[in-house]
This record gives sequence, structure tokens and C-alpha cells, in this order.
Amino acid sequence: MALLITEECINCDMCVAECPNDAISLGETYYQINHARCTECIGHYDEPSCVQVCPVDCISPDPAHRESQAQLADKYAQMHY
Ligand code: SF4
Ligand code: SF4
Repeated sequence: MALLITEECINCDMCVAECPNDAISLGETYYQINHARCTECIGHYDEPSCVQVCPVDCISPDPAHRESQAQLADKYAQMHY
């Protein structure tokens, strides 16, 4: 499933450059993930790279956008091929 940035985000900007899908941008008050572009980094990395760099651990699975590994791989393929 796509990931979600919660309101604990401190707007440090660390995660933006780490996203291989350009899925992260500044929202109205804190950063947000475009669920249509987030693949949990499938196709690029073994682990979600935004989660690795976030200093306050405020990125978690988005319960509103549940997807299987196969669906995430399809999303990756549609964006990159
Ligand atoms: S999990 Fe990967 S693709 Fe999804 S927002 Fe984080 S860095 Fe981007
Ligand atoms: S790394 Fe974490 S705290 Fe920093 S902008 Fe991204 S989500 Fe927010």
C-alpha cells in the first residue's frame, strides 16, 4: 500500500530527494505523499527510502490505499516503462 506522512512531520525536507517516484511534496502544513505514485519503493529499493531517512518516524502505511506487492509492481512499471 502507499505510505502516509502524519502530522508529526517537522517539514525537514529530508525525504523529498530520497523518493525515486517524485511522490513527496509539501502540503498545506506538512509534507504529503501522492498515493498514486508511491510504490513503497518497490522496483527501486528493498525498503521504503523515505522511512529510512525520516528523523521523527512519521511515515506509515496508508490504510486508505491498500495494495498488494503485485499491484505496487504494476504501478512501478506504469510509471517507469
Ligand atoms: S515509500 Fe518510496 S515511493 Fe513511497 S513515498 Fe516513500 S520514497 Fe517515495
Ligand atoms: S523526512 Fe519525515 S519529518 Fe522530514 S519532511 Fe519527510 S516526513 Fe516530514
